[in-house]
This record gives sequence, structure tokens and C-alpha cells, in this order.
Amino acid sequence: MTVRDATDLVEVSGLTKHFPLRKGLFSRQVGAVRAVDDVSFVIRRGETLGLVGESGCGKSTTGRLIMRLIPPTEGGILFDGVDLSKLEGSALRRMRRQFQMVVQDPFNALNPRMTVAETIGEPLYLAGQDRTARERRVKELLEVVGLASYHAERYPHEFSGGQRQRIGIARALAVKPKFIVCDEPVSALDVSIQAQVVNLLKDLQREYALTYLFVSHDLGVVRHISDRVAVMYLGKIVELADKRRLYSTPKHPYTQALLSAVPVPRPGARRDRVMLTGDVPSARRPPSGCRFHTRCPLADETCRQVEPPLIDVGNNHYAACHRVTKGSERDDA
Ligand code: SF4
Repeated sequence: MTVRDATDLVEVSGLTKHFPLRKGLFSRQVGAVRAVDDVSFVIRRGETLGLVGESGCGKSTTGRLIMRLIPPTEGGILFDGVDLSKLEGSALRRMRRQFQMVVQDPFNALNPRMTVAETIGEPLYLAGQDRTARERRVKELLEVVGLASYHAERYPHEFSGGQRQRIGIARALAVKPKFIVCDEPVSALDVSIQAQVVNLLKDLQREYALTYLFVSHDLGVVRHISDRVAVMYLGKIVELADKRRLYSTPKHPYTQALLSAVPVPRPGARRDRVMLTGDVPSARRPPSGCRFHTRCPLADETCRQVEPPLIDVGNNHYAACHRVTKGSERDDA
């Protein structure tokens, strides 16, 4: 899965982030939150990789690690063949223009004292563009995201949630990035507005050959925008496949449970609901063996003791479960 390929834009290998827990006068480390634990995957040029899972599973932390907003505890991130962990200072700032982020809450992400023109133009200013070039680009970007040029002099509070997300997307596009991490970009929006923003992201991807990591807890939204989908549970990727295979033949019991809760679009059709019991365990002390065993209806003694590796079950469909076997995916899935 992590073999170097010219079509890969982002290559993540063994990515790990443990947040230390400290206590006492001397801030002695008493443990760690294992937010992301030995995660490996690639994102191909021009694709959208959906990253899904329940709250606290480590998906947003993975996005922030790839953006180099926080340092990893271990593991590597290659962006277009360049090892991001080796970059610092101006080299990292230059590289950062190629990857940008769109976040969940556009209102908090936008500075209330800056006009839209200043907000979108800020990355251009930091990149050294003069005022005339910035004004021209801001006008162009407003049009690209479906806003009017007169919006440039307004402030964030004058816009609806969907419009503010469009401003966030315009800002992310300002420096012509190759890659955007979309971190729950529509979860704060009404359902009708969600579709508009997702469709805008899809249009922009086609027009500018963008590559996305789309982080979301909503499998319905992820299905609409993603080419491939990775499912995370307690800091680990438990399943990864192209969208069609993952939604039609999920292998991992956790994915099966998540999908069983997603409404079926066909009238009259329904899925048998798989109810998950118990709470998500703490990432401070993840369960032994398979991390999902405390909630899995199929768990046995092996599951409690031995961690299942992420294996290829066929057709680039990967799953980490003792109940799935190599090559078990049929071609007609
Ligand atoms: Fe369930 Fe065992 Fe598979 Fe884990 S390894 S998902 S506990 S059957």
C-alpha cells in the first residue's frame, strides 16, 4: 500500500501521534493519549480520500499531522516525494503553499476584524504578491466560489454559514495549492447547503486538478465526494478501499456497523441495523489485541490478545480483522 508510485501525491508511513499527559510540579509524564498509532496510506493525485470514523478516532489529528501543524511522534509524510519532516523555516513555508486546509467552523476560522478581501488576500500577501495582483486574484477567487465582487469589502458576520465556508475555500485556493485537507467542512452547515459546498469542492477539484483528504464522521457525505475511503477506529485504520467496494462489501465489523446506520437512498430499501454496544474506549489505554474487541459482536479470545494487521483482501481492499482473509474479495463486488 505504501510502495512509491508516481501517481501518489501524499505518502504517509507509520504515522504516530501520542500526546503526553503530564502531572505535578515538574510536569512528569504519566501517560499518553495515543491519538494516531502507526497509520500508513497514500493519496493519489487528483483523488479524494475520505477519512471517516467516530469523534475522537484520530482522523482530524491525522489531517493536522499531514499539514505539519503538529509534529508527529513517529513516522514519515512524503509530499510529492519530499519528506516534510526534514523541512523547517522558509523551506517548509514555501512547501506549505502547495497544501492548504478548509476547516469545520468557518466563523471561528475567519478573523472577524478582517474584510473578505483581507482574509482571502492574506496568504497572497505572505507569498509576496503586490496589492494590485492581490486585488485581481481576490476578485477572481470570489467568482470561482460563487460569491460577488462586492462581497470583498464585507466582514464575516455579514455572511451565512455556507457563504463563510465559500470564503474559507477561496482563501485555501488563493496560492494555487495541489492538495487540500478538508476537515469536516460541511458538518456545521444545513443539509441543503452541505450539498452545495460539496458540489463546489467537486467542481473545483475537476477544474484545478486538486487532491483532497476529506475528513468527516458522516458516511453519507463521504460517499458523495470520495474516490476511496479509509475508516479509522481509536487511532488505527481498520479498513480502506475504493468507495464502491467499501460501501457494497464492507469487511470490517466496525465499518459494517457504521454503514448500517446510514439511510439507504432507494425508496423502500432498508439495511439491517448493527448496533454498537458500549462506549469508545479511551485512547489513553486502548484495548489489547484488536482495539475494537470491546464492542465487536464477533470478538473471541484471539481478538482480545492479538492485534490484526491491515491486510489486502483483494482489489486494493484492506481490512484489519482476524475474520477476513487475504484474497477473499471477489471481483464481482
Ligand atoms: Fe471483531 Fe475480532 Fe475482527 Fe476485531 S479482529 S473486528 S474483534 S472479529
